[in-house]
Amino acid sequence: MNKIASVFSGLLLCIFPVISQAQQYDLLIKNGHVIDPKNQIDSILDLAIGSGKIAKIAKNIPVTQATKVIDATGLFVTPGLIDIHTHVFVGTRPDKFADGILSLSPDDFTFKSGVTTVVDAGTSGWRNFPLFKNQVIDKSQTRVLAFLNIAGSGMSGDPDQQDINDMDSKLTSLTVQKYPEIIVGIKIGHYEGNEWTPFKAALEAAQKSDVPLLVECHLPQLPLEEQLNRMRPGDIITHSFEKVSERITVVDEQGHVRPFVLSAQKKGILFDVGHGGAGFWFTQAIPAFKQGLLPNSFGSDLHRYSMNSGMKSMLNIMSKYLNMGMQLKDIILRATWNAAKSIKRSDLGNLTEGSVADIAVLSLLKGNFGFIDSGGNKLEGNSKLEAELTIRAGKIVWDLNGMAAQKWKN
Ligand SMILES: [Zn+2]
Repeated sequence: MNKIASVFSGLLLCIFPVISQAQQYDLLIKNGHVIDPKNQIDSILDLAIGSGKIAKIAKNIPVTQATKVIDATGLFVTPGLIDIHTHVFVGTRPDKFADGILSLSPDDFTFKSGVTTVVDAGTSGWRNFPLFKNQVIDKSQTRVLAFLNIAGSGMSGDPDQQDINDMDSKLTSLTVQKYPEIIVGIKIGHYEGNEWTPFKAALEAAQKSDVPLLVECHLPQLPLEEQLNRMRPGDIITHSFEKVSERITVVDEQGHVRPFVLSAQKKGILFDVGHGGAGFWFTQAIPAFKQGLLPNSFGSDLHRYSMNSGMKSMLNIMSKYLNMGMQLKDIILRATWNAAKSIKRSDLGNLTEGSVADIAVLSLLKGNFGFIDSGGNKLEGNSKLEAELTIRAGKIVWDLNGMAAQKWKN
C-alpha cells in the first residue's frame, strides 16, 4: 500500500465510525408516551427509525444519532392504526348506482387520522380484484389489503351481487392463494335472499384458503344466531352495533345483550365496529360495552357518505369509546395489535424493533366535544383523539401542526 492510500484508509477508519454513529437513524421521536400493546410498552420513551424500520425504542437515545429529531412531549406514539373495514375500490360499474361508487381514495382520508393500513371489505370479488389491485392497491401509499367478496364482481350493484351462480368458492379461494400478501379474508354481505348458499360458499372459500370470514352483520333474511353458530373462532362480524328495523340487534329491547351473542364472543367470534352510515348506535354500543361485549377492532366502514356523517374517521370512533369509558391503552390495542391479529398479519400493528415504521403520533385534546351515532344521537364528552403526525414506512405522510417542519425564515 502506498503512503497516500495508507493515510487515506487511516483517515476513513477515523472518520467513518463517527459519521455512521452521528447519522445512525433517519428520524428520532423524543419523549413521546409510547403505547405498543403487543410488546406491553406503555411509558415515556424515545423511538428511532432507520431505513423505514423501527430501529430502537429506549430511554434517552442521543439526538446526535439522528438526522432529524421530533419532540413528542405530551403526545402518544403508537403503531400506525389499522382499519379493517373500508371501501376503496370504485369498481367496474359505477353507472349502475353500484355500491362501488361509495368508495373513496384511501390516501385522502387515512393519514389524517393516523391510519396506515386499510382493509377493503369486499368491494371487489375474484373477477375484478386484478383491476382493484392495479387501480388502487399498487398506487396507494396507504397499505391496502382486502377481504375478497364471495360475489364474483364484489359490490357491483344488483342484480350481479345477488347472483348465487356467481358465488364460486373455488375461484374465490384460488384468487386468495394467488395474492396471499394482499387478500386477508373472504367477505359475505349485501346478499338479500334467504338462501344459505352464499354464506356456505363464502365459508367454504375461507376454509379452503385458511383465512377469516368477514360477515356483514345481520344478513337481513338469515337469523343472526344461526350465522354466529356457523362462524368459526377468528371469523369476524361487522356492523356489530347496528339498529335497523328489519335486523336482529345484539342488544334486546330490554337493554340486555342477547345470550347467544355473548356465547359467540366466548367461542372466539370477533366483533368489529363497522360504523359506516348506519352501523353504530349508542343504544346498542353503550349497553353492550357495559355488559362486556367490547369490539375487537374499530373498522370504520369508511366510504364517501360515512365520513361526512357521524362516523367521520376511525379516530372519531376511538374517541367515542374513550368517552364511553374505555381506557386509552385498550383502545390502542384494538386499533393496532388486535386488528393485525384478526387479519393474521402479526407483522403489523406493533413497534417491535425491525418491523416496518408505520407510526401514529396522537394528541389527546381536552374540551367540550360531541360525538354522533348513525341515528343522529349525540354523546357529549371531554376527550378527543387527533393525529398530529403519521409515518408510513419511515416517511412522514401527515404533519398537522408542522412538528417535523422547520420554522420559516424571511
Ligand atoms: Zn362496508
